[in-house]
Amino acid sequence: MSEFDYDLFVIGGGSGGVRAARVASSEAGAKVALAEEDRYGGTCVIRGCVPKKLMVFASSYDGITEEATHYGWDIKNGGFDWSAFSGRLHNELDRLEGVYRKLLDGSGVTTYDARARLKDAHTVELSTGETFTAKHVLVATGGRPVRPDLPNADLGIVSDDIFNLETLPKSILIIGGGYIACEFACILSGLGVEVTQYYRGAQILRGFDDEARGLIAESMREQGVDLHTGTNIVEVERYREGDDEEGGMDAPVEAMQYAMPAKDAPQEGPLKVKSTNGHIKVFDQVLFATGRRPNSDDMGLEDVGVTLGRGGAIEVDEYSQTKVPSIYAIGDVTDRVNLTPVAIREGMAFVETVFHGNPTPVDHDLIPSAVFTQPELGTVGMTEEQARDKEPVDVYCTSFRPMQSAFADKPGRVLMKLIVSQESDKVLGCHIVAPQAGEMIQLAGIAVKMGATKEDFDRTVAVHPTMSEEIVTMRKPNRTA
Ligand code: NDP
Repeated sequence: MSEFDYDLFVIGGGSGGVRAARVASSEAGAKVALAEEDRYGGTCVIRGCVPKKLMVFASSYDGITEEATHYGWDIKNGGFDWSAFSGRLHNELDRLEGVYRKLLDGSGVTTYDARARLKDAHTVELSTGETFTAKHVLVATGGRPVRPDLPNADLGIVSDDIFNLETLPKSILIIGGGYIACEFACILSGLGVEVTQYYRGAQILRGFDDEARGLIAESMREQGVDLHTGTNIVEVERYREGDDEEGGMDAPVEAMQYAMPAKDAPQEGPLKVKSTNGHIKVFDQVLFATGRRPNSDDMGLEDVGVTLGRGGAIEVDEYSQTKVPSIYAIGDVTDRVNLTPVAIREGMAFVETVFHGNPTPVDHDLIPSAVFTQPELGTVGMTEEQARDKEPVDVYCTSFRPMQSAFADKPGRVLMKLIVSQESDKVLGCHIVAPQAGEMIQLAGIAVKMGATKEDFDRTVAVHPTMSEEIVTMRKPNRTA
């Protein structure tokens, strides 16, 4: 008999926690419990990747019907019905949550629908008042969106709220230039919302390849997103009747004698936003896509000796072990690479390390990922800017109008780019901006992860006619860097 109630207690029922719990129980024979205070499936399934991707699909049909007319189809777009879509979306999320619960049950994991906090290195206390001991505790509590430190910021929404809107706004201001800001700018624009986006930096999608960022920004503007870089929100308040008589929405701040916050502001309705570009504009909704923060508050972590780093991220070693040997942490709460498949990998590596006695560090190198803008950005490895700081590289790049949209007289371009080491000929980075770039980069990622050289790419015969054939037909570098 073990001296503990459980071999493993997992806190958090998102992708990482559920996978670790299931595998520890069903494959390693451990006695496992999992506590989740909200819905099973976590950010990815309930308020992130999955509903977002379904919204990406929903938003693409307007363009498709328009394009179809150029291909001879007599087809008309009768408009988008948010309530019809949203009902189906929530049914699907309910179904998926049920699948997650079933998977846990079927694997023999005991679940508690409760919030958990740590009492000591081996004891978990639930909001129900119950207390359990466990040989190992795995914290997989994820993260949450944060609003900027701005008066009235709670008047705006965050990404979690989008999926629960009762109606789609006519106009929206999106603050931020990261994944979430750019993805929702494209999605909402595709659904017919007038989208304005303010990003404080010089170019959106900081950290991605510069050329790819430039093309995404250009495509977003072509699509109708009113994107302002070098611009941020200064103040926000509820719009009051008559406000627009003071000189129009684009009037300079000085002309508006603008006073915020207003005491008599209404509780609902449009929002009036003052920005660093000196304008005041009115939007039906403001979305703050200004980053995320690990869910590590009020869990008793520091009291038991777990150390937290910048922004509250749990500090772990390469085996996801915290400073307290019995406590491990995986996924967004550790703020390493905040992607679902990475959290799942970290969960699997944790089980391998702890329950199979096979210490397995997580490989965070060369992780392919995609930004689901329209067109998408798929990327793996170093950007041109990162690579040229490390070693001399050849840059192979081509940008063109793909056959399908060129035929329909649409302006959008795609981009295929390889960064190649001059010394080893290895492909150090691959960046694709194109419809379905997420699908393409998954496959290119295998080659790059295997250490493929440019010669290996060249030896591969093109699949014709496709967009991605260009990735194996670029013969001469455009430049060295
Ligand atoms: P990001 O950190 O990617 O972007 C946050 C954005 O908000 C940045 O543009 C940042 O500007 C800006 N910002 C931060 N603080 C302020 C402020 N006070 N005022 C104005 N702007 C501000 O966060 P996201 O929320 O977009 O995404 C979080 C993470 O979730 C991603 O890093 C990714 O790991 C994951 N994710 C992955 C997706 C995918 O794989 N497709 C999709 C969605 C999310 P600056 O650049 O100047 O710092």
